[in-house]
Amino acid sequence: METLFDGKKAFKHIEKLAVEIGARPGGSPEDKQAADYIKGYFESLGLKTWTQEFTIKTGHTTHQSLDVIKPYKKSITCEGLSLIGQTGPEGIEGELVYIETTDEEYLTPEITGKIVVTNGVQRKNLDLIQKMKPKGFILIERHPRVLPKHFWGQFPKNKDYGNYPSVRISFEDGLSLLKDGATHVKIVVQSERYEKQTQNVVAELKGTLKPEEIVVVGGHYDTVPDVRGASDNAGGTSIAMELARVFKEKGSKRTLRFVAWGSEEMGLDGSNLYAKKLKEADKEAKEKDKEANTELDNTKLCVNLDVHGALLGTNNVYVIGESILTHSVKLLSKESGIVFDVKEDVYSSDGTPFSAVGIPSVSFSRDSGINIMMHSVEDIIEYLSPDALERQGRFVETWMTRYISEGSVFPFPHTVPEALMKKIEDYYARWKEPLP
Ligand SMILES: [Zn+2]
Repeated sequence: METLFDGKKAFKHIEKLAVEIGARPGGSPEDKQAADYIKGYFESLGLKTWTQEFTIKTGHTTHQSLDVIKPYKKSITCEGLSLIGQTGPEGIEGELVYIETTDEEYLTPEITGKIVVTNGVQRKNLDLIQKMKPKGFILIERHPRVLPKHFWGQFPKNKDYGNYPSVRISFEDGLSLLKDGATHVKIVVQSERYEKQTQNVVAELKGTLKPEEIVVVGGHYDTVPDVRGASDNAGGTSIAMELARVFKEKGSKRTLRFVAWGSEEMGLDGSNLYAKKLKEADKEAKEKDKEANTELDNTKLCVNLDVHGALLGTNNVYVIGESILTHSVKLLSKESGIVFDVKEDVYSSDGTPFSAVGIPSVSFSRDSGINIMMHSVEDIIEYLSPDALERQGRFVETWMTRYISEGSVFPFPHTVPEALMKKIEDYYARWKEPLP
């Protein structure tokens, strides 16, 4: 089958997004600049293009520091989790206590009123942590040789996460804190918080035979603060943009909707919004007429592209859907001689909200050693290549051509198996997010 996907063309989008524009956290001027670039590109292809705007509660760090004050003095480079907890300009001082993980066994009154240092933080037992009232958190990176990551959250969710001033530090700095016997530290984390507008950018290629059947193909274009996000996810966005060009040229029997998702890093905001709107419209239509055929019924599949372009790496696919969908990717992998590790599982990205409202999703991604630097300033274009994009892009193009754009009948059932739906519910519960 002839393929048109051009890795060099896709790579140019990464250069624009991750080098020229750079960090583009949701709601920032760079986020808008990136959205305008993507919108302009879709329009230049002659596709009907629009944006879906929404508000996020966000902010940025203004001051952050970590100092050992007893029994020796030393400043340590850190990244403040500005939207989780904050301090005044004077900071907080306290006694350090090290725990291996945030498993229940370690969450004892021992941590009450102290600054907890750990390299095993998990998204569980948040309630128990709250109950024990620690004074602050120092999160040590899990892997050595990577810089502290730039995570954030949404400050209205403080009540769930706790309002502890928290900083991330490197594995090496964490190790020396313990080895040198630091007992008391001072933490400063100050931030500004505000509401900002951001957007999804949507472009539509109308189907020639079954225009009412829609397949959504997308990747998030936002980043965490101060991080260029070359692999995560200028890479996936670039593949979605190049696929838009390819299918505009090839045509499609079904409607293809190419979407650059906004504010994924804040908690899948753009895709949650899209899925929620589908669900609300569906409910409203079916209250009037239970036989109504809605856009939710007609949105057949979501193809998601998140984390792409690493030259050294391997290919991954996460499927949330029936096994025929999984087999279709496995078969093409065997046939094409391009290895994909195909799993039926939840991938923490923009396909999941679709599956939460009953639409199957397939997430393509690139696994690589560089993924340990994801969400740090080291996620840069130097590790990526047009060739890696082209291999992955041509595979997705072939798979889409076969089953989506050219097939006479859409082959994949519009259902999500119960066991996977349970995993989606657990995923949302872990993040303390309502289902869309
Ligand atoms: Zn991502």
